[in-house]
Amino acid sequence: MDKIPQSRLDRGFQEHQKEYEEKALSVLRSGWYVLGEEVKNFEQEYASYIGTKHCVGLANGLDALWITFRVLGIGPGDEVIVQGNTYIASVMGITMNGATPVFVEPDRYYQIDAEKIEEKITDKTKAVLVVHLYGQAAQMSKVREICDRHGLLLVEDCAQSHGARWEGRMTGSFGDVGCWSFYPSKNLGAFGDAGAVTTDRDDLAEAFRVFRNYGSEKRYYNKVVGANSRLDELQAGLLRVRLGHLPELNEERKKQAAFYEEHIDNPLVIKPEVREGSESVWHQYVLRVPQHRDALRTCLEEKGVGTLIHYPIPPHLSEAYAYLGKKEGSYPVTEQYAKEVLSLPLYAGMTKEEQQAVADAVNAFRVL
Ligand SMILES: *Cc1c(COP(=O)(O)O)cnc(C)c1O
Repeated sequence: MDKIPQSRLDRGFQEHQKEYEEKALSVLRSGWYVLGEEVKNFEQEYASYIGTKHCVGLANGLDALWITFRVLGIGPGDEVIVQGNTYIASVMGITMNGATPVFVEPDRYYQIDAEKIEEKITDKTKAVLVVHLYGQAAQMSKVREICDRHGLLLVEDCAQSHGARWEGRMTGSFGDVGCWSFYPSKNLGAFGDAGAVTTDRDDLAEAFRVFRNYGSEKRYYNKVVGANSRLDELQAGLLRVRLGHLPELNEERKKQAAFYEEHIDNPLVIKPEVREGSESVWHQYVLRVPQHRDALRTCLEEKGVGTLIHYPIPPHLSEAYAYLGKKEGSYPVTEQYAKEVLSLPLYAGMTKEEQQAVADAVNAFRVL
């Protein structure tokens, strides 16, 4: 069998190739390329899919995060609570505003451990940033209740959770703001960089619309020092096509995850669990290998099976955050997961034969 990469995006394109090509051509021929009808329509359709009043298109997921904290007025001297085991962009969204991230350990579902949030709240805490990691919705009723009781803002990093639900309700609709990335490898992926925020709050939606376009509502009249974080017509148009297929694309991923759940059987690995009340859209299928993760990774590589580690260095130990002064051992669970997690191949158009080959390779792994 050919090599099986951890991810491949060409299959997903091929599944609806004609629709993408027609949309791309129509945008190219329209003569209008940034913030136009496609963006407006995508924003409406995505807000309606998520169940929020507003969606505002932005240039990428990191912008969605840092602009959110900027618009919420969070800056130097303020603290934001976030889980330790996240992609570094979640943390950069906080620190780019001069605010301080306060890390919480994850639970066994890899989500923020809601039991450990309250002990981190100080008089400087302004918000909680929940990351629905690997596509699984975090336990939002509990987190929302804590935020309400302490008067904290709630922001969701939904870059991995397009379509995932907690108790039947979409991620990105619980917080003051939901932050989205449509980077090509995400469940709802564009063909380049793209992002958005969702919110029910009229004041925030308005602030985002102004901020993304140099702080101006009316051309050359600037209300605030904003950013250039506009969504372009080509990406918005292509996202509308993909959004139309997102329910079936997520169903396909759920079936693929169920296949691994059924066919992977090796006492050396721990398969992912999903919390009761939560739904996962399986952005990643992440194994935990307590003893021999790197050996398994090499063994799979030799058999032509690609894997990735999400993520090998937790943000608090990354060179970029040396200034926070967090030493190894500060967050034992986060650090343990960084040493043990391994993401298997899972992508639109992955065949049963390919999945079986991956499962066989995992099952054959032994330590001498
Ligand atoms: C991808 C991702 C981001 C950043 O999105 P970009 O569009 O790449 O800037 C932020 N947070 C998480 C959890 C992500 O997976």
